[in-house]
Amino acid sequence: MAKRALVTGVTGQDGAYLCRLLLEKGYEVYGAHRRSATLNLWRLEELGVADDVRLVPLDLIEFTNILRTLQDVRPDELYNLAAQSFVGLSFEQPIYTADVDGLGPLRVLECLRAVRPECRFYQASTSEMFGKVQEIPQTERTPFYPRSPYGVAKLHAHWSTVNYRESYDLYACSGILFNHESPLRGIEFVTRKITSSLARMKNGLQEVLELGNMDAERDWGFAGDYVEAMHLMLQQPTPDDYVIATGEKHSVQEFVERAVEICGWKPVWEGEGASRRCLDRASGKLLVRVNPALYRPAEVDLLVGDSSKARQALGWTPRVGFEELTERMMKADLDRITSGKSLL
Ligand code: NDP
Ligand code: GDP
Repeated sequence: MAKRALVTGVTGQDGAYLCRLLLEKGYEVYGAHRRSATLNLWRLEELGVADDVRLVPLDLIEFTNILRTLQDVRPDELYNLAAQSFVGLSFEQPIYTADVDGLGPLRVLECLRAVRPECRFYQASTSEMFGKVQEIPQTERTPFYPRSPYGVAKLHAHWSTVNYRESYDLYACSGILFNHESPLRGIEFVTRKITSSLARMKNGLQEVLELGNMDAERDWGFAGDYVEAMHLMLQQPTPDDYVIATGEKHSVQEFVERAVEICGWKPVWEGEGASRRCLDRASGKLLVRVNPALYRPAEVDLLVGDSSKARQALGWTPRVGFEELTERMMKADLDRITSGKSLL
């Protein structure tokens, strides 16, 4: 009989890639979405799997709803991807973020314990828990030091996952994933903000790109590779926690440079700090400038992961590197604009 998976956050980036992977592996896939006036399935549609996922309404705020969904669906594997996932917004909505990202996973764990303890559980943890990093690179043993309400809430969910595994013998894993991107990334995250803005500028639909801290460095991987690690974690003899990362770091400015070049401009940088700007060498066109309003109250300057444990224990390895990732994202947004599609 086919295994049955329940994926929360099905309308998000990872939800789409994970559903496609699980369908390819022969799973019966249930996708949990929170009810809204207009259900947005564009990512599932872009991957060609919207008709194959069985949609169920589920909000991480509502305990009774989670309980009933587990009783109805009776999943063998539950991937908890749902979250208020934007660090920037978590400073504006810290209590909501704590509720969804911190208490939400705890509600799911409690419901699993009560009605479906045999179900394997994956929690979408994050490198943001390392925040002000205590060592470089970060591993499963690196002490946490979150720097945003998002990071703090996710840390609560991470320890809840460990605690339920140790207390109640649940098969519960926490995947500590470093930033992962794709053409399906939300438009508010810096990589996709850069590619969507440059595509609009290339086509005369936007004047200039404004960014905050361009010195921040991240370990950016490809979401399609990272969902494979999620699945592998739930196929092991015993549950555990794993760092998933490429091991390479690049700055926001490097991402800008690469994307600008793909658009056919030649980047030249001027100024320092809040006056830093990027121009096109040939035309002198202003491409990027700093808007200090986009600086965060507390910044995570550098994240770079060591995923040796996952590489050895799971046999996982990332396939798409920084150059290819940037190119895929930039080209996808240029194609969307030229074919008249919305950038969403
Ligand atoms: P997205 O922001 O693209 O997707 C988040 C999903 O969660 C959306 O489907 C959203 O629904 C849903 N959601 C939000 N609030 C609720 C709620 N109250 N109840 C139910 N569903 C809700 O994130 P990603 O796909 O990029 O990330 C997946 C998970 O992995 C998240 O938990 C994220 O925090 C975590 N993560 C992501 C990393 C990354 O670099 N992408 C790195 C490390 C961890 P809607 O469409 O209605 O908004
Ligand atoms: P995060 O690592 O989860 O916070 O992912 P983001 O893509 O939102 O941000 C990555 C880094 O880019 C952070 O250090 C941000 O401060 C930095 N950054 C600089 N300018 C911007 C911007 O305009 N938007 C976003 N989202 N991030 C920016």
